[in-house]
Formats: sequence, structure tokens, C-alpha cells
Amino acid sequence: MNNLLTEDIKFLAGVGPKKAELLNKELNIYTFEDLAYYFPYKYLDRSKFYKIEEINGDLPYIQLIGKITDVEIVGERNKKRLVAYFSDQTGSIELVWFKGIKWVAESIKPNVEYVIFGKPSEFNKKLNIAHPELELLEKAKANTATLQAFYNTSEKLKNSFINSKVISKLQYTLFSSLKGAFIETLPDYLVQKYKLLSLSESLQNVHFPIDPELLKRAEFRLKFEELLLIQLNILKQRNHRVKISKGFVFSKIGENFNSFYSKKLPFELTNAQKRVLKEIRKDVGSGKQMNRLLQGDVGSGKTMVAVMNMLMALDNGFQACLMAPTEILANQHFASISKFLDGLNINVNLLTGSTKKKQRTIIAEQLQNGELQILVGTHALIEDTVQFKNLGLVIIDEQHRFGVAQRAKLWTKNEHPPHVLVMTATPIPRTLAMTVYGDLEISVIDEMPPGRKPIVTSHRYDSSRLKVFGFMKEQIKLGRQIYMVYPLIKESEKMDYKDLEDAVEGISRAFPAPQYAISVVHGKMKPVEKEKSMQLFIKKQTQIMIATTVIEVGVDVPNASVMIIESAERFGLAQLHQLRGRVGRGGDQSYCILMTGNKLSVDGRKRIETMVRTNDGFEISEFDLKLRGPGDIEGTQQSGIPFDLKIANLAQDGQIVQFARNVAEDILDNDQLLEKPENSPLVKQIKKQNKNKINWGTIS
Ligand code: ADP
Ligand code: MG
Repeated sequence: MNNLLTEDIKFLAGVGPKKAELLNKELNIYTFEDLAYYFPYKYLDRSKFYKIEEINGDLPYIQLIGKITDVEIVGERNKKRLVAYFSDQTGSIELVWFKGIKWVAESIKPNVEYVIFGKPSEFNKKLNIAHPELELLEKAKANTATLQAFYNTSEKLKNSFINSKVISKLQYTLFSSLKGAFIETLPDYLVQKYKLLSLSESLQNVHFPIDPELLKRAEFRLKFEELLLIQLNILKQRNHRVKISKGFVFSKIGENFNSFYSKKLPFELTNAQKRVLKEIRKDVGSGKQMNRLLQGDVGSGKTMVAVMNMLMALDNGFQACLMAPTEILANQHFASISKFLDGLNINVNLLTGSTKKKQRTIIAEQLQNGELQILVGTHALIEDTVQFKNLGLVIIDEQHRFGVAQRAKLWTKNEHPPHVLVMTATPIPRTLAMTVYGDLEISVIDEMPPGRKPIVTSHRYDSSRLKVFGFMKEQIKLGRQIYMVYPLIKESEKMDYKDLEDAVEGISRAFPAPQYAISVVHGKMKPVEKEKSMQLFIKKQTQIMIATTVIEVGVDVPNASVMIIESAERFGLAQLHQLRGRVGRGGDQSYCILMTGNKLSVDGRKRIETMVRTNDGFEISEFDLKLRGPGDIEGTQQSGIPFDLKIANLAQDGQIVQFARNVAEDILDNDQLLEKPENSPLVKQIKKQNKNKINWGTIS
């Protein structure tokens, strides 16, 4: 019976080779089973009917009952459209078609009762419904389901007449022929213990809900299963890792750490920094390998934590390295770490793509004989030629820029895995962290260094540019420096650079030399030029830095107190927050100005409003998660988690994530490596879920 599930979708009645090809390509549906697991994205309550007088432009899809009194074709040639006048006892509304006009016009019957489905919208101050679905009331009555499932399709599918309704019909055919073919995938003891709906019932009810209560239980069961498998997978890997990989023991706090702490520390550590250092200290002293994620908002002082962690390694005779995602950032880290450690007789060096060959040879030599204690760099660090004598600690900054595979390469630089600290300034909501970074321990710096004034954020339209220029001039007079950031979007790179050039020209005219000086930094410049331009700004020789997002990560110029983001609506929330974090690093009041055109999409406006409302990175990321869905949150793509979750939604199903995590922990407490026979169905499912993704088990 089970073979039926693996049957090619083209053999399902009503599909055939042509439609099958589309289903393969557009929806990844290859087999009967794939179709059964292609879930609706929403349900319409078919017992609810609206009256025309109740309609406004904000309603989602609705149902109306009424008659079509007249039909006409209006407009010329390619602007032709079909308008049908639809009315009930309370009023009338226009139904509009732009495509398939002839066919619709011919099939509409006047003066019989229809049920129509559609989404009302406003056009020229008049309400209408474009491309509604029509069904004769007679026929609609025959349909007893109260909750109707809706399926996402694509433009291509719709053009081939495969819409939600057609998918629903295919599901119907499928479930009629599959009855009983679904073998329970969860162990019986779990189904019993948590009173779950069986797999068969769940699938049936998700597509054809008998009532809202059963639908809820069906959804719960399927979401839970999906999330449970992910959690089991993560936690099992973690157990395995902890079991096999003994960590280096940094048993003592020694000379380097102590003299730094007592003589060199330029400021009092915040309580959050102290707490995190304690957490790290516990890890590295435990005999287990540390795998810790350090989350802290931009400017919260992660670098200092990194430095002090590296000193722990040095004090125990180990080398440490710090890897940054960009050359600019690596340079900055190298500069600030060298400054912090100045006078302590510690050998620190920098390795990036632009390091000269002669210097490289020296670094390679000193790394191998152990003379070089701290190496800062970019991706260059993971090249095979870079070999350490005894690497004890790897710190990765802004980890969302690195793929999992790259992380893995650093891991394998030793026979013995070094301790790993991953630092990120992208706050990640809890439920997401539990999943994306489920295998890492998490530390949070939730406190800013003292004396910071919250950044004042405002939204300005392009039309008030002159006022913004005026404000910039005032700030420059006060001795401050300003960033102006332009978006770059790959598809139109050429045009974007043209935009950037135009902008530079415009700004240069508004801020003429010699009174003003401007730095420009963008991705197409050579690293040397970039660095030169940066240095001018750092040394206060230029007051304005015009940049593309290359400055997003890590740049630290405390005197820069104004951040102007052009076409701010084109940036995502995480990025806007990162960019804003470039200012507010000194004692001065800082400002962030979000420039946009007058026309904003709904989401664009929400993003801008969120930025103006709050400085809290966690609040912003929660909102981002709701707005975009987890697959788009930076860092999740590289995580190796299948974020095209079929039914669970990390933004909405936080409670189920937590529940699944608890259950997974329970299961593993009794069966660490899932070897007991009763758990074999789970192992089978995990394997299936893992089939198409990177094996990140080999990574940590
Ligand atoms: P991020 O977490 O974004 O990497 P940084 O480590 O760059 O933040 O720190 C931001 C700024 O705050 C730096 O100039 C750093 O020297 C300073 N800083 C860090 N910790 C403290 C502290 N405890 N007190 C005062 N300033 C601090
Ligand atoms: Mg940083």
C-alpha cells in the first residue's frame, strides 16, 4: 500500500505529464506523497456570507450571494476589461476581469443566484472585486465543507489553469484513492502520551477539515512532528559532539589576563560583559569544547569580551584567532585589539586577502612555531596553507556572513577541536535561536556601555532633502561626522553605481570643498583605496562618508553621530538596525535619518515606523520575523535547517517550538543517541528530513 505514496504525480487522475511537469517545477511536487504534504496556507469559512453593504476595502477574501444584472466590456485594446454588475438586497458592486474576458462573458448567466468569492479592493473610490470565483448557488449548496482550504500556486500554474481550486480537486482525488495508505510516522507511545491525532486523520483534516476543532488538532500534530524532528536532530548532534569532542582545558587565569584586567582595561566592564565572561570561563574550563553564540546589539561591547577570551587562551599556552567577514572589519579589529594589548608583549598579526606574500610567509612560520599568538583576519584564515601550532580558540564575528561550511573548516584546523565563540549583532528571537542555533549555547549582552544616549531616528521624504542638508551642516559645525548610505541591489548593479556616482556629485555640490571634505567607500573599490578612504574619515579629515552597505558591519568611528540612509525602504529591518548601530558610539547625541520617496509599500512603511519607534534590536527582530518569515532572516539560510518548513511557522508557532524542544529533550534523556527500537520511526523520519540538506552534523 505504501508504494502508492511514492507513485509519480503524473499518474494521478487529472494530472498527466504536462501538468506534472509544472507541479514538479513550480511546487516541488513529484509524488503522491509530496502532494499530500503540500499544505493549504489558509482556510475560508464557507458558512460565512457578507452583505454588499458590509464591504470595505480592508476585507480579505469574502463570499457574497447575489445576482449579476448586467455585463459589459469596457476600454480599448489592451486596456479592455469585463465588468459585471453584481447585487444583493443591500447594494451592488462591480466584478472585474482583465483576462479570459471572452470566456467569462460567455459563461455568466444573468439573473440567477451566484455565490462569489473574492477580495474587495478600491479603485477610483469605488469598490470592486477583481477576478472573483463564481459558483452557482445551487451547486455551492451541494458542497458541505464549511472550511475550504486555499493553496498557494504560482503565476505559471495559474496561467495553465492550475489554481487553488484545482489543487484542492487533486487532493480530493488523491485522498479518495489513498485511504489508509499513510502509515503512522510517530512512535505509538508519543501519540498516546500527547493524545495526538493519527497521521492519516491529520492529513485528511488539514486538507478537508471536518470542523475547526479537528483542523486545529491536525495542524498541531503536523507542526509538532516537523519541529520535533528538527529539535531531535539538533540535540542529538549536540549530545554526540559533547560526547566525542573533549575540549582543551583552560584551567588558569594567568599573567596576560590579569595584567590586562588590572592595568589596561580602558573602562569598567558592564555587568552583562562580566556575566558573559563568566559563562565563557566556565565553558573553557569544563573539559568540554565550547560552542557558544554571543548575541549583543551593535555597540554593546562584544569585542572586549572577545579580547579577554583570547587572553584566557594565551594564558594556557594556546593560540587564538578572530575571523571577520570583511577586510575593513578585520583591519578595525586588528587596530583596536593591538591598541588594547599594547605594551603587554603579545604577538598579534593580521591576515587578509591583501596581505603581501612576504608577510604571509612570516605569519605562516610564526603560526607554526607558536610565536604568533593572536591572528586576526578574514576568510584568508581558512585557507589550507594557514596552519596553527596549537589553536585553542576560534572567534567568529558577525557570523551571519559566514556559511556553515566555512565555520566547519576552522573547526578542523586542529586534530582537537578548538573552543568556538560566535559573535553576532543580529538579535535573534528566542524561538528562532532555539532552532537555528539550537546546537550552540547562547550568551546575551543585554546592556549598553554607560553614557550612551539613545539614537534619535526620524523619517524624511526625499522632498525635504534641503532641510536634511541644513541639519547636516549644523552637525558638521558642531564637529560631528556623517555617514550617508546608499542601497545596492544586485539585479541592477550598474544602475545603482550610477545612482551612487550621481549622489556623490550632488553631495559634493551641496558640500563644496574646501569647506567640506567627503570620503567615498563602495564594494567596487580596491581594498587599498577603501582603506585609504576609511582612514581619512577615521582621522576626521573628511566629514561625510558616502558608502554602500560595506560599512554595515562593525565600523567604529565614535565621532560619527549622524547616519543618513537613502532609499531606506529598500533595506530590510535587520540591515537598517545594523546601519543605525554605526552611530551612537560616542557621548554625543546621535541621529539616524531614514530617507524615502513619497510612495511606500505597506511593508516598507511598517519597517520605517518600527525603526522610528524603537532602538531595541530584539523587538526589531521579532517584528522582522513576523513581517518576513524566518527563511529570510539573515543567517537562517546558512544554518542548514530546512527553512522551507512545510507547515510549522517559526514566527507564529513559538509555543510549539518550545513544546517540541521539551519533548525532544525528554526523549533523548531516555535514549541519548536514539538507539531504542521504539524510537526507530523517529530516526527514519529524521533521515528523510535530512536527505536534501547539508550534513551539518559533521560540522560541530
Ligand atoms: P560591538 O558589540 O558592536 O562589536 P564594540 O565592541 O565595537 O561593539 O564596542 C562599541 C564601543 O564601545 C567601542 O568603542 C568599545 O571600546 C566601547 N565599549 C565596550 N565596552 C565598554 C564598556 N564597558 N564601557 C565603555 N565603553 C565600552
Ligand atoms: Mg563588533
